[in-house]
Amino acid sequence: MNIAVVGTGYVGLVTGTCFAETGNKVICVDIDEKKVERMKNGEIPIFEPGLDVLFERNTRQGRLSFTTKLDEAIEDAQIIFLALPTPPGEDGSADLSYILGVADKLSFLIKDYKVIVDKSTVPVGTSEKVHNILAKHLDEELFDVVSNPEFLREGVAVDDFMKPDRVVIGTSSSRARDVMKQLYEPFVRQGNPILFMDERSAEMTKYAANSYLATRITFMNEIANLCEKLEANVDMVRIGMGSDSRIGKRFLFPGVGFGGSCFPKDVQALMRTATESEYDFQILDAVLKVNTEQRRLLAKKIKTHFQDDLQGKTIAIWGLAFKPNTDDIREAPAMYIIDELLEAGAKIKAYDPEAMENVQKIYGDKIQFMDDQYEALIGADALAIVTEWTVFRTPSFKVMRELLKEPLVFDGRNLYDLERMQEQGFHYLSIGRNPVS
Ligand code: NAD
Repeated sequence: MNIAVVGTGYVGLVTGTCFAETGNKVICVDIDEKKVERMKNGEIPIFEPGLDVLFERNTRQGRLSFTTKLDEAIEDAQIIFLALPTPPGEDGSADLSYILGVADKLSFLIKDYKVIVDKSTVPVGTSEKVHNILAKHLDEELFDVVSNPEFLREGVAVDDFMKPDRVVIGTSSSRARDVMKQLYEPFVRQGNPILFMDERSAEMTKYAANSYLATRITFMNEIANLCEKLEANVDMVRIGMGSDSRIGKRFLFPGVGFGGSCFPKDVQALMRTATESEYDFQILDAVLKVNTEQRRLLAKKIKTHFQDDLQGKTIAIWGLAFKPNTDDIREAPAMYIIDELLEAGAKIKAYDPEAMENVQKIYGDKIQFMDDQYEALIGADALAIVTEWTVFRTPSFKVMRELLKEPLVFDGRNLYDLERMQEQGFHYLSIGRNPVS
């Protein structure tokens, strides 16, 4: 099939590349000229494991190409994917201007039947809005609008896209349904379902899934905070809970609060949708409040340890990305922690395997960026671990002790064993676990 993908960010580029990998001809279009130029030159503008091999193969074999021209991209396309930003507006609702703006342009460009697919995360009712904009200038026989929310996780996006747990397709058109089924069949050969439903339910499914996951993390963060007070160990509690098949083991790790480009904005947007429907979504209100506090937890622990006096202190930070295996720093907890430490007068020496370039664009020389995780420790008064990159899991504790001024570690991800840290001579503070005494 011929496919156009509008927007080549974390979702659009993975979507386009993976569809090319199954034999489709894909043209990706983006308004960012520099980005398009880089991709035309074979450069991938984001860090996403495994994407490079697919990108290289499909561009070389002519199935994946890039342009800044929407008309050129959609001319021969049977399907047009919208993978555009839906950032939070001032009142927390999803800003639909990118989606509706492109829909308006498409209404002047479409000449033959096309399926317009919303891949962005959009509030319930958006596919109707897109439909109405297209219908202003187009015969309704010439298009169908489909809601196909994306569930990929940054860091494992290629795997998630190639082998999705499920594909959700919201459409009331049997013609569009057949096109989507044909497109996605190669991705569900192991038997995972393609779930067909109405557009509104598909849009809601995405918000419900993300809001549930954000709630699950937040619940564990609160259990962890209470464990600290009660001298229980949240790691044990987590394993004890997760062994129950009704609960399951995944997504129960406490930490420094959720971040990223999706959970905070999607929870806010669902809250906004609820408010507009005069529904008081109390759990989500609590989730956002708890998360705001949790993001401050590590900085609070550091400040308490130093009796609120961080003037002249240097804190090493391991991990800046909002999670491992990505360079994405949108709403990353590390940014909140850094802001609070800087405000308290601390100096920051930071290391992240992939995200430093993006952070440097925001902080410039306000913080120091180090080439190596150990270099960040030289002369630092403490280490704060914020992102659980694999490379931080088994460090040389001997070298850490030698480089740090004090053997003091604040671990926002519970990477190390409490007894081991005590044996190694560290003062080690983590989440939901008390130091061994
Ligand atoms: P992104 O910001 O990484 O990418 C968006 C791209 O769209 C950018 O390259 C931008 O230049 C381009 N763009 C903006 N306006 C344009 C226009 N008029 N024409 C063409 N291109 C344009 O965003 P993302 O993270 O890929 O997210 C896209 C959508 O997918 C959002 O709704 C998001 O909530 C959703 N989503 C994201 C993830 C994720 O993990 N990032 C997962 C699932 C769903």
